[in-house]
Amino acid sequence: YEAKQARTGWGLFNVRDTEINRQRLRLRADLSEALLEQKIHLYYQPKVMLHTGKIIGVEALARWHHPTDGVLYPGSFIDIIEQSGRVQEFGRYVVRTAIMQLAEWQRQGAFTPIAINLSPYNLLDLGLLNFTLQLLDDFNVSPDMLEIELVESSTSINIEQISYRINKFKEAGIKLAIDDFGTGMSSLSYISNLNVDLIKIDRSFIDGVDKDPKKQAIIFTAVTLAQSFDTKLLAEGIETKAQADLLMQMGCRYGQGYYYAKPMQAKQMKNILLTKAVLPIK
Ligand code: C2E
Ligand code: MG
Ligand code: MG
Ligand code: MG
Repeated sequence: YEAKQARTGWGLFNVRDTEINRQRLRLRADLSEALLEQKIHLYYQPKVMLHTGKIIGVEALARWHHPTDGVLYPGSFIDIIEQSGRVQEFGRYVVRTAIMQLAEWQRQGAFTPIAINLSPYNLLDLGLLNFTLQLLDDFNVSPDMLEIELVESSTSINIEQISYRINKFKEAGIKLAIDDFGTGMSSLSYISNLNVDLIKIDRSFIDGVDKDPKKQAIIFTAVTLAQSFDTKLLAEGIETKAQADLLMQMGCRYGQGYYYAKPMQAKQMKNILLTKAVLPIK
């Protein structure tokens, strides 16, 4: 039975599975019928320097404004995009939207870098680098305003295999972050081959960190690693002041999470950037 479950990925067949699968089929159809532009929006979540609360950049997170289901999170549609052969279209859409947003904010007086999430699949798009550089040039945006967040886990492509491609983005001046650090990693050696600017500790190690010495040990490891590679270190998913304080004590300088701000629409993000607000806003 286990073998069958692994092969089909369906698991125990119950009412809830049927419902989920029905929804997924519907979402797949909904997504295929029109342009991504009209459906997928980028929300922005600030990244802060922990001891000042100053915004050092923002991360772009995809949201699908669904006509009947409301705002959908990437967990419910990224894999649909990947399975429907539209990874390249989606990746380029995210790159273009982020660069246009950078240009718009720049015109309005907000100079904050944007980080985008690209899956290793996106890096298999041979034209992505030139596409990105052309847009940066067209919109007069400096490459170091754009950062790529890369996740190693959950794909069969490992970062070592594509490090040559990633380094081309680095050589062009685009920043590089390792996302979800601490999850699903078979080897850390790619960190020495890649010139990484930022390591983002996965949210699962922050949740409950105050009570869990094992999570603290992982964070100490990340702090040491970041120091020896001269890389910035950021903690994802900070939800309380206690977590922020502990992380600072442990030597982590940057953070992101609901405690500071939730992901928000571009306009609201711009307003916060323009007031040079210190987070969390009280
Ligand atoms: P990620 O890049 O690790 O993004 C962080 C996720 O944690 C986001 O979920 C964010 O909304 C959530 N988060 C931030 N702070 C907190 C917090 O304090 N508490 C909790 N519980 N959650 C927090 P989201 O937006 O659902 O995105 C999930 C993942 O989907 C992202 O993980 C990223 O891997 C992927 N993703 C998002 N946008 C894109 C995209 O444009 N392209 C690709 N390829 N992947 C994307
Ligand atoms: Mg990310
Ligand atoms: Mg992450
Ligand atoms: Mg993640």
